[in-house]
Amino acid sequence: MRAITRLYRGEYATVRQLEQQSYRLLKPLVVVFGVGVLLCLTSLLTVVGAIVCAVTGVLLVGVFVWMIQLQKRPRRDLRCPYCTNKNSVFTGIEQFDCDFCERPIRFDEKGAPVPADDSYQSRPTSVYDLPVK
Ligand SMILES: [Zn+2]
Repeated sequence: MRAITRLYRGEYATVRQLEQQSYRLLKPLVVVFGVGVLLCLTSLLTVVGAIVCAVTGVLLVGVFVWMIQLQKRPRRDLRCPYCTNKNSVFTGIEQFDCDFCERPIRFDEKGAPVPADDSYQSRPTSVYDLPVK
């Protein structure tokens, strides 16, 4: 159920996050559909199995169509400033976590992706950058 509310509120920033939420939603439906198929194979509960298959089948198709609609939202490919991997990010997002290194990324005034945690920028890159005591 949490996956539905997350998808509904648009709580995903990248295509990969959308897919992960979608799979979380689809997995239980596929399991119930499978149970329905098994019930269809029994002699006593065929009718129950058929109803379960029909209901979950309709839900699965509905979720698929919804996913396709959500994926059509405009997005752009951005390189992560930490690990330089490519993220497919939906437009209108203020901040997101990288799909690969999971570190937070925000946008500067020009819309370019920059690290969101300040610790990264102030991290010394060599021993000469370390503060002298
Ligand atoms: Zn990254």
